[in-house]
Amino acid sequence: MKRAILVGATNGAVTSFVEKHGMRLGAARFVAGETLDECVVVLRRLNDQGLRANTTLLGEDTTDAAGAAAVVTAYEEVFDRIAAEGLRVNVALKLTHLGLGLGEDLAYENVARLVDHAAGHGNFVRIDMERSDVLEPTLRVYRRLRESRDNVGCVLQSYLYRTPRDLEELLPLKPNIRVVKGAYLEPSEIAYPEKEDVDAAYVRLMEEGLRRAGHLAIATHDERLIDHAIHFAERESIPRERFEFQMLYGVRPQLQLDLVARGYDVLIATPYGPAWYPYLMRRLAERPANLLFVLQNLRRR
Ligand SMILES: Cc1cc2nc3c(=O)[nH]c(=O)nc-3n(C[C@H](O)[C@H](O)[C@H](O)COP(=O)(O)OP(=O)(O)OC[C@H]3O[C@@H](n4cnc5c(N)ncnc54)[C@H](O)[C@@H]3O)c2cc1C
Repeated sequence: MKRAILVGATNGAVTSFVEKHGMRLGAARFVAGETLDECVVVLRRLNDQGLRANTTLLGEDTTDAAGAAAVVTAYEEVFDRIAAEGLRVNVALKLTHLGLGLGEDLAYENVARLVDHAAGHGNFVRIDMERSDVLEPTLRVYRRLRESRDNVGCVLQSYLYRTPRDLEELLPLKPNIRVVKGAYLEPSEIAYPEKEDVDAAYVRLMEEGLRRAGHLAIATHDERLIDHAIHFAERESIPRERFEFQMLYGVRPQLQLDLVARGYDVLIATPYGPAWYPYLMRRLAERPANLLFVLQNLRRR
């Protein structure tokens, strides 16, 4: 099912139908609006509930340098707005949105500008991890940034066989890492095809990260893994300032609040923007039951 949805996501007819009707059909459950103004309302509500957030201007695979420059300008405005509104919000972005497909140096210059802009506001940038074909340049760019800057983090995906090695190589930098299971369609030559293996790899990655990373963001809605992290951190006396939980806007909202009530730091990834289609498709693929939610909305229209 996951494969069918992710493959269907590239079908032209599906794309144009969902792009036309998607917001009304249910994208709004996962996307905090098409504009920054709409998103700010949601971010403030999350903050008021005790949740931190990161925001993302949705988009990926920018195909020209002017487009990538426009994304940089848009993110500078996002940081300025977050500061003006006094929000507890940082930014997570994708290097292909900043022009990685056009060249690694271009993406590096663009993201470095944003990390420095964020630093001017005492804020932070996380670089999302995308498909495996851009993993190496993404980690190289992260490394270059981290060598001279504190306010930047990256992401590792437990479904890839190579990830324990990537973690080991990053550790000397005292990195700020988000660990995730992985959201893309990857072949079995490089990624565990079975969910139970992905979950087991996640446990190993999380434990190593909790013990040894500078800061670990445990990004999952999987309650078993969250409980495991809590018990592991208690057993190993890992202070709560060294890790946080992260979840997606619209997914397991009660669990988010329960963790805050228990005194944990919880950050909600809260994207916005008109280019929400691939993001929505990944959310549907993670939980095909979400398709039912979309189809029910379709029937009600
Ligand atoms: C903050 C954050 C940042 C992320 N960043 C990246 C990234 O940079 N790169 C990347 O490849 N992936 C990223 N992901 C996605 C991640 O890789 C997984 O695809 C996603 O989190 C689903 O896996 P899970 O850990 O929640 O566990 P699962 O085993 O998939 O889900 C556990 C339970 O959570 C609930 N759930 C999970 N997903 C959904 C959903 N979409 N809708 C409704 N309920 C759901 C269900 O109850 C499910 O039973 C990110 C996820 C989060 C939370």
